[in-house]
Order: sequence, then structure tokens, then C-alpha cells
Amino acid sequence: MTQSKKNIAIIGSGLVGSLLAIYLKRYGHQITVFDRRPDIRNIEFSGRSINLAMSNRGWNALRAVGIEDEIKEIAIPLDKRAMHVVGKPEYYQKYGKDGEAIWSISRGVLNKRMIDLAEKNGVEFRFEEKVWDIDLPEAKVYTGETEKGEWTEYPFDLVFGCDGAFSRVRHKMQRRSRFDYSQDFIDVGYKELTIPANNDGTHKLDKNSFHIWPRGKFMFIAMPNLDGSFTCTLFMPFEGEVSFESIKTKKDAVDFFNTYFPNVKNEIENLTEDFFKNPTSAMVTMKCYPWTYWDKVALVGDSAHAVVPFYGQGMNAGFEDIFVLDEIIQEFGDDWEKIFETYQQRRKPNADAIAELSYRNFVEMSSKTADANFLLQKKIEKHFSANHPEKWVPAYSRVTFSERPYAEALAAGDAQESIMKQVMKIPNIAEKWDSAEVEEIMLNLVGVSN
Ligand SMILES: Cc1cc2nc3c(=O)[nH]c(=O)nc-3n(C[C@H](O)[C@H](O)[C@H](O)COP(=O)(O)OP(=O)(O)OC[C@H]3O[C@@H](n4cnc5c(N)ncnc54)[C@H](O)[C@@H]3O)c2cc1C
Repeated sequence: MTQSKKNIAIIGSGLVGSLLAIYLKRYGHQITVFDRRPDIRNIEFSGRSINLAMSNRGWNALRAVGIEDEIKEIAIPLDKRAMHVVGKPEYYQKYGKDGEAIWSISRGVLNKRMIDLAEKNGVEFRFEEKVWDIDLPEAKVYTGETEKGEWTEYPFDLVFGCDGAFSRVRHKMQRRSRFDYSQDFIDVGYKELTIPANNDGTHKLDKNSFHIWPRGKFMFIAMPNLDGSFTCTLFMPFEGEVSFESIKTKKDAVDFFNTYFPNVKNEIENLTEDFFKNPTSAMVTMKCYPWTYWDKVALVGDSAHAVVPFYGQGMNAGFEDIFVLDEIIQEFGDDWEKIFETYQQRRKPNADAIAELSYRNFVEMSSKTADANFLLQKKIEKHFSANHPEKWVPAYSRVTFSERPYAEALAAGDAQESIMKQVMKIPNIAEKWDSAEVEEIMLNLVGVSN
């Protein structure tokens, strides 16, 4: 379908805004991207590298505009988890079938590449220009130095809000009647720390693993960077007995790592300094609807749906929004009202599903990993899945290694959960969990649920 040339504004040059710019520029539109931040390509590298896990959905969206291979060159494949459990030597859990991997990639490096690519294709970027207001029916954008100061008005045909979880564009839509909105913070925060490279530039831990130190209510993870370092994240309650609040002094921080993470303590660069210098950040699930205003304005990425990061899917979901939006553009050509309506209807159930899955993963990690019944259930599922991979695809694989809708992964997960409820009621299940009898029962239950 052909499209007539439009004058389009994208608010936000983050991962989603810059990829959307690349997609839309292919149709010959005039694209202007506004960001309140300075151009990250000119910012001196702070030394802190923050990375993300890219999985199938993200790669799929990059492949469609021909940049998958180029971006893979700056990513590291992780084909397994490396588990660092108290009282056990380090062990590995393969993610799935041969070749299945998630990829660790630096957020900054990826963002810079995409801005470069968009600019090369003729997208105009206006950095350090904060958008304060939008005239929704007229698709006008207002920028300026301060909220109360003088603003510049820009007229557009279409506006995309890619301005993140605390979006201004959405804020304007929220003031309309019948706009649904919810925001839920979890009581766990996170802090980023770094494990530096060895002197010869090699990695201190296995570089093709996603490293996890689970400790019940808190956990530590590490993902590799190209320069030999690891970006680590400590997830922990804000308040309580073992919490960010309870670590007040450098000695508290050292004691904390000595007690719970003795084997990583020595590797963390400037442990105590970084601990107090780096912020403790919050995590939020944000849902809203509608995502669009007639044929004028649409929200894409975190501005439409922010999820807690326990499935590593926020960016992947945002990239998938763009991929699906593009399919719809090709379906409906110039009819932007139809495009926007179809886009929000197709994506909203999937955004809600990944929000739910991500939240459940958080609950599992923070409160169920010490529950013997839960651990037994997981062991049975794993055993059955290993024997019947085609009959029991774990929710993690459906989310991470497929492009089927998130809503389908959630529904399949619910069906498995209801099977497991019955399995867990089998008398003496703890003794005979790997018996032929239990396998037979599960095969029957799976057959019925299919
Ligand atoms: C700890 C953590 C770990 C994560 N790990 C993963 C992971 O492993 N895998 C994954 O897929 N996702 C992950 N995510 C989620 C991912 O970071 C987000 O989903 C993704 O960055 C969203 O991109 P975005 O472009 O929509 O928004 P953002 O990255 O928030 O970008 C928004 C942009 O808009 C600009 N902006 C905001 N307001 C204005 C304004 N008024 N005017 C102009 N510009 C404005 C901002 O400066 C920014 O550049 C993680 C998130 C967290 C918090």
C-alpha cells in the first residue's frame, strides 16, 4: 500500500523512538525527533555501561529494516544461565534448544547506532528540546526551555509519543475523559554496579552466561559487555531487614556483600563507592488505554506500557509494537485512523500479558524460591518438558524465543499452572515426581488441555 507523505513528530530519541524513526522514514515521510536530553553521541562515556537483553522479538524488528546483523556485531550471545547458589558450586542452565540465546547489548551503544542510522536516512533530530505540551486534535507540539517560559509551536500531521514511562504525551491524553490509567510501583529497587575486565581485557566470569545469584527476597545479576566488564544489578527491597535502607555505611555495604555474595565481592569495582554513588531506582508497571488519539497521535513503547524488568522484555515489547504497527501500515496504507485503531487493539492485550508475566516472575523470584512445593513443581515441569519438549514449552521460551503473541504465552502458562495444581495433589508426589505414573497422568492432562 502506498502512503502519502506526512510531516511526523516523534517525541523521544530512546531505543523505541529512534527505531520508529528508521521504520517511518522508509515511506518517505518527513520525520522530526525531539528529545529533552543532549545528543548521547556527543556525551563523554561515563564509564558506566548499562546493558539489556535482546531476544527474538527485538531481533525480528531489527531484521525487518535490515540492521540485525550490524547490531549483532555489538552484542554478546548468552546461551545459558550461570547459577551462583549458596552452598553449591556454580552450575549452568541452558536456555533451550541449540542456538537459542538472549543477547547482552549496551543500551548506549545501541541507541547511538540507531540515531546514526536514522540520521543517515534523513531523519532530523532536535536534541535538548523538551516537549511541554501537545495539541492533540491539531497535532501541534510545544517545546521550550521551561514550563512557564516561552514555547515554540511546531505543526505536524502525526505525533508519536515515545517518551518513556513518564510520558508527557500520555499525560496530555490522561486529562481526557474515559482514559484509563494505572501505575504500580513494586517495593523492590535496583542499583547498578560493575565488575571490571581482567587486566588483559578478558571477562572475569563466563562471558556467554547470564549470571544470577538468587538470595530469596533479593538477587544479584550480571551481564557481559564487549570491553570485558560486566554490568551488575542488585535487586533488593527498599525497606526491611535486608534492604537498601538497612545499608547505611560503607562497612554495612562490605558486610552485606561478605555475607551474601562473598565470591563476587572482590570483583566489584569500587564496591563501597559505587554503592553510595549510584542511584537506587524504582520499578513500575504502567498501563493505560487508549493509546491513540484519532488519526493524530499514538503512544509506542514504554509510554504506552511500562513493565517491571524481570522478563527482560520492555524494549523487546516496544520494538514489537513498531513491527506490528508497520504490518498494519502496509495493510491500510493512508488510513491513519484505521491504522491507529487496529494497532492499539492488536497490541493492548499483548502489552497487558507481558506486564502480568513480568510481575509474576518478580513474585516468583522474590517470594517463592524458598518454597519447597514451588521448587518441586518447577522440578516436575522441567523433567516433563525435557522428556516431551513439544508438549510442554515453558512460558520463558514462549516469551523469549518465539514471536507468537505474549497473550498466547500467558494463556499457555495459565493452562500449565492448572495442570500442575492437579499434579501437585497426587499423593506422595514428592517421592514419585519422576515416576512413569506421574508422567502418564501429565500426558493425559496435557492431551485434555490441548
Ligand atoms: C533495570 C532495567 C532493566 C531492563 N532490562 C531490559 C532487558 O533486559 N530487555 C528489555 O527488552 N528491556 C529491558 N528494560 C526495559 C527497557 O529499558 C525499556 O522498555 C526501554 O528502554 C523503553 O524504551 P523507550 O524508548 O520506550 O523509552 P525510554 O528509553 O525511556 O526513552 C524515552 C526518551 O524520551 C525522552 N523524553 C522523555 N520525555 C520527554 C519530553 N517531554 N520531551 C522530549 N523528550 C522526552 C527521554 O529523554 C528519552 O530519550 C529494562 C528496564 C529497567 C529499568
